[in-house]
Amino acid sequence: MSEKKRLLIYCKECLMPNTRPRQQFNDQGICAACEWNKQKKNSINWKDRWAELGEICNKFKKRNKGRHNVLVPYSGGKDGATIAYMLKHKLGMNPICVTIRPPLEEEIGIQNIKNFIQKGYEHIMITPNREIDRLIDKDNFINKGIPMHAFMISVQTAIYRASLILDIPFVMYAEEGESEYGGSKELRNKKTYAKEDGIKYYLSGVNPNDYINKYNEEDLFWYTYPKEAELKNRDLPELYHWSYFREFVNYDHYLIAKEHCGLLEKTERNQGSIENFSVTDTYLIRLYYYLMYLKFGFGRTSMEVTNEIRRGSMTRNQAVNIAKKFDGEYPDEEHVKKYLEYYSMSLDEYNQVLEKWANKKLFYKNNKNEWTAKFEIY
Ligand SMILES: [Zn+2]
Repeated sequence: MSEKKRLLIYCKECLMPNTRPRQQFNDQGICAACEWNKQKKNSINWKDRWAELGEICNKFKKRNKGRHNVLVPYSGGKDGATIAYMLKHKLGMNPICVTIRPPLEEEIGIQNIKNFIQKGYEHIMITPNREIDRLIDKDNFINKGIPMHAFMISVQTAIYRASLILDIPFVMYAEEGESEYGGSKELRNKKTYAKEDGIKYYLSGVNPNDYINKYNEEDLFWYTYPKEAELKNRDLPELYHWSYFREFVNYDHYLIAKEHCGLLEKTERNQGSIENFSVTDTYLIRLYYYLMYLKFGFGRTSMEVTNEIRRGSMTRNQAVNIAKKFDGEYPDEEHVKKYLEYYSMSLDEYNQVLEKWANKKLFYKNNKNEWTAKFEIY
């Protein structure tokens, strides 16, 4: 094997490398997510899990009689739409869908929400304080290489608060990302997660309430968890993952959302991606995936083709060829312009942030000043 190839060690079955945070390989060199993907097929009785969901639904139908009985976090994409569809039409629930609006919203994402509402789904939009979004995001972009941390926080905290405000303690998130895509094995067979798990796994260990020391507490309402005193004598939100109850297949969700929920796709594929239908809610997502590529050496395409391998619809060799072609595409000028405006930064300052976070073992700058991989996907 050439030196160039050896820079990253890949899972024998998919394209996730050893640089992925919390990545674990077994003795056969297979990553935890691929291992789990197989184990799920053999060890989980999905019929039993579905029946379990039915019982939970019945509990909340009784508790919330005559009103909404389940809260579905809905970004405008295929997963939330599919979950709302299944809850409403297959399980007889009365869902309320809640969208936390991200900064730099994409038009197609908004159109998808409008189409979804037209199909008879009830919906609430929460727009957190945009100035705080910007401050938190700029700080984390510069100091942690995370370009949209505020949104990631509010998807946890604002949903938590919405559940309390609406008095719907049944919250159905989509997939448990750690189990499905590689990372901790802790939540694999758990149907709910605690807010402490959310902090540990979904918010990079940052407790959102720590921001209270930094910004005005009132402005942070949607970015913080309620304090203990506010939770006294309340039914606390039970945070479930749909992937516990039903096999989580992205492509199936795309088909369901397209047929039943008015999901639109773009005419062109997303940059750095082979798909034209997922994560279309904010322009910042391109930067998010590009930074992931610069930090760890795998981008959005690698993740997508990995899903296809696990679904059995692509061979590993096909996936390698596709990822070589599209992974790590640089966000184009139009996008960068939006980012500079959002962060109030000059192009120089922006490039310095990328410079700071690019993994120099894996990348070098070519003579056009573009980050170029030293490694090869194999
Ligand atoms: Zn794998």
